[in-house]
Amino acid sequence: MERNGLMSFAPAAALIDMDGTLYDSMGHHADAWYRMISELGIDCDHDEFFMYEGRTGVDTINIIFRRAYGHDASPEEAKELYRRKTVLFSEMPPVAPMPGAQRMVKELLDRRLTTVLVTGSGQNTLLSRLDKDYPGAFPEGMRVTGHDVTKGKPHPEPFLKGMQLAGVNAENSIAIDNAPLGVMAGAASGAFTIGVTTGPIPEQALLDAGADIVYPSMEALADNIGKLINPFNMSI
Ligand code: MG
Repeated sequence: MERNGLMSFAPAAALIDMDGTLYDSMGHHADAWYRMISELGIDCDHDEFFMYEGRTGVDTINIIFRRAYGHDASPEEAKELYRRKTVLFSEMPPVAPMPGAQRMVKELLDRRLTTVLVTGSGQNTLLSRLDKDYPGAFPEGMRVTGHDVTKGKPHPEPFLKGMQLAGVNAENSIAIDNAPLGVMAGAASGAFTIGVTTGPIPEQALLDAGADIVYPSMEALADNIGKLINPFNMSI
């Protein structure tokens, strides 16, 4: 599904989300959030956490706190609650890379794009696996995590920081994300924004969030990298 017509162009960098994009992890995240919030005695809906995907942990905690108590959590409280959610997530069975994502990243690397991780997460459970699952793609200096930004997605700051790390500007960047808030952040950063549906969120929601193009799976995006990125214009 395309909004602006299929573009074939010569990006220098790809700024790539982690949860729900590189890893099939969103179900576990929703479970961990639901359990942590329920432990506080606060009512919440399991599936609402899919809607907050892309936000930093503190942002998500404050959404719940404002609804339940009418105010934000204190910074200490938020830190402790996010730690608890992280523990719950780490106790769940390991998640697998999203089917097609390793091939997609390899296709980008083969075309000499710089790949940068742009995630709202700060969880080591997955960050520590990146080098093994995506060799050479996301070295330490090429990661924007929830610890590196003051404003999480849907604010463009995470993607703008990713461009800084890669030394590129928005016109030479693509953003890849599976969630509406991530797509909003990518579009707001000025990057050509690719939405990929990998969970319950419909394609139209990603187009509405500002995606330039949406693929129905990571496999489909991997199949189309060669069409999207014009080899004749490739900058070296
Ligand atoms: Mg995601």
